[in-house]
Amino acid sequence: MFNKILIANRGEIACRVIKTARRMGIATVAVYSDADRDALHVEMADEAVHIGPAAAAESYLVAEKIIAACKATGAQAVHPGYGFLSERASFCEALEKEGIVFIGPKPKAITAMGDKIESKKFANAAKVSTVPGYLGVIEDATHAERIAAEIGYPVMIKASAGGGGKGMRIAWSEAEVRDGFDRARSEARSSFGDERVFIEKYVVDPRHIEIQVLADAHGNVLYLGERECSIQRRNQKVAEEAPSPFLDEATRKAMGEQSVALAKAVDYQSAGTVEFIVDRDRNFYFLEMNTRLQVEHPVTELVTGIDLVEQMIRVAAGEKLPFAQSDIKLNGWAIESRLYAEDPYRNFLPSIGRLTRYRPPSEGTSGNAIVRNDTGVFEGAEISMYYDPMIAKLCTWAPTRLEAIEAMGQALDGFVVDGIEHNVPFLAALMKHPRWREGRLSTGFIAEEYSEGFAPMAPDAGQQAVLAAVALSAALIESNRRDRFDDRLRAHSGALRETWTVKLGDDYVDIRLLDGLVTIPFDMDIAAGGKQFNVVTDWRPGDPVWRGKVGNATVTAQLRPILNGLRVDWQGLSVKAKVFTPQHAALDKLMPVKLPPDTSKLLLCPMPGLVVSIAVTEGQEVKAGETLAVVEAMKMENVLRAERDLTVGKINAKPGESLAVDAVIMEFD
Ligand code: ADP
Ligand code: ADP
Ligand code: MG
Repeated sequence: MFNKILIANRGEIACRVIKTARRMGIATVAVYSDADRDALHVEMADEAVHIGPAAAAESYLVAEKIIAACKATGAQAVHPGYGFLSERASFCEALEKEGIVFIGPKPKAITAMGDKIESKKFANAAKVSTVPGYLGVIEDATHAERIAAEIGYPVMIKASAGGGGKGMRIAWSEAEVRDGFDRARSEARSSFGDERVFIEKYVVDPRHIEIQVLADAHGNVLYLGERECSIQRRNQKVAEEAPSPFLDEATRKAMGEQSVALAKAVDYQSAGTVEFIVDRDRNFYFLEMNTRLQVEHPVTELVTGIDLVEQMIRVAAGEKLPFAQSDIKLNGWAIESRLYAEDPYRNFLPSIGRLTRYRPPSEGTSGNAIVRNDTGVFEGAEISMYYDPMIAKLCTWAPTRLEAIEAMGQALDGFVVDGIEHNVPFLAALMKHPRWREGRLSTGFIAEEYSEGFAPMAPDAGQQAVLAAVALSAALIESNRRDRFDDRLRAHSGALRETWTVKLGDDYVDIRLLDGLVTIPFDMDIAAGGKQFNVVTDWRPGDPVWRGKVGNATVTAQLRPILNGLRVDWQGLSVKAKVFTPQHAALDKLMPVKLPPDTSKLLLCPMPGLVVSIAVTEGQEVKAGETLAVVEAMKMENVLRAERDLTVGKINAKPGESLAVDAVIMEFD
């Protein structure tokens, strides 16, 4: 076994690998860029080596710097994590030359599977069922049209070197193939430095189901069940689970055995993932093989009890797998939610900044569930524009799918993140979504269910009663504490008022208290919305998280002070709550309503970013859909388009300027 390994990555995955290495008694070396001097993975590792500027191309992606760091520290092996150098055969070869072990597959397997066209050829040869398509060189748009007609519409044009959900487009007609082909090719060239594209059948409404494989250097290849990753936004995974609610034992076995056959065909060793799409009739088609640890590997670990990183390290050290296929049992259900620094209310635009508050739910057993949080950040850390915007991977395990979903809902409700925008409200709402709960999934789920984007939701009557009860309990606990300060003149007669009105957004909820006294911990019977229930909580003033019971429901909600009230976040809802006496409520109803300012004549910067270009001039007439400006943030160029026909007025921003969120880029007449 190795004495010391280097982790050529950053963020949550570097931390995750360090944890296992430490448990195995292996010393760890972290590498870090300028932007990561204070990062968690640096703090966690036994040693750390600085490898250059923030830009990944000048640090985490430079093989020579990683190798130099190994030599300087005496690290015997490198775990690459995912992304960065994890799927570069040339990196493994360079390590091999230096006598350093790559904790992953051999270069030959990486090369064979790293290219989508080549890997489909291998898959065909290994009798793996693949998406019908054409794997030759496509000469021009006319040739592409002919192929598409043969395959039958719709088709997908894909970059052979693509990855991370990028470099693919769907075509439903000849015109779209013609238009799409040239653009796909130039996009592939600029994004991946490789203009080869291919065409395959676009499977309508499929599920994404992938098989985890694990292989050693002695010819043993196993499959560790599947993960379903159909909850995707723009072909990128958002939530995953193991097992899949869709597979039966026979399909699981068939997919598993084909995956093993493919792995054997390329002499695979280490952990790898064979991705499939599955149609409504459970026909499955090979998509690609990822020759690395997959982002969503924790759900497999939770249902199999196998630490994949440990097995990768052992296999790399030459050990045999300690189990056989018949030992692999899937136990219970696991869900993963990817927490991203992005604003769900603004079409998931990236958000950067400092985590002024970061309090994940506690890990470990909670009731019959397990909570696991793989993270690479901490309170006070900064989410920078340089790297992947993932904050954490929150996983829950429970005996059944619905229990795991419930546990995830509670864990998300208690996950406190302030300082940046994040997708916790979206994930929390997803956990309540009936179609998700029923497991009726497809890769189009988010596009179909949130076709207008994710908008703030309004609570239903039952949710209103819970929100009102939470807000009222907090207000009563706070006033109880104020009353107990020494020498304070009592603000009221001492008898607790029986009737209250909680304003939630623009609605008023009347509550009657059935007990006359506030106790700490809080325990009170109340009547609201025509029902009676008991409210219990040990919440204390200042706690951001309210935990307790409202009737039979276990409730975890977040409270943040606002002017004269609280903001309550729960189940993806975010509601302003104010506690009034009925008299105050009656007066409040008479208050004039303040209308939000009219921003329809302004182009606001949707996120902090750099103006790349301004596409219009003052006085220009623009049609709906035309580009107004391009703003870069988190290495993504965001094209801001006209939402309607308009005439450009004053332009306030210049290319090269850094703008804050909501800065006025231009005005319209
Ligand atoms: P998963 O492991 O869930 O399949 P992806 O395939 O989306 O995840 O890729 C994992 C990570 O690797 C992502 O963070 C993505 O940014 C990065 N990545 C993978 N392939 C590429 C590529 N060809 N170009 C850029 N980034 C990539
Ligand atoms: P990447 O390397 O970017 O992960 P994949 O080939 O794995 O690319 O595809 C990513 C996602 O795109 C899949 O999970 C699926 O949602 C969708 N997709 C890819 N190919 C097809 C196809 N032929 N038909 C329908 N959806 C597809
Ligand atoms: Mg993929």
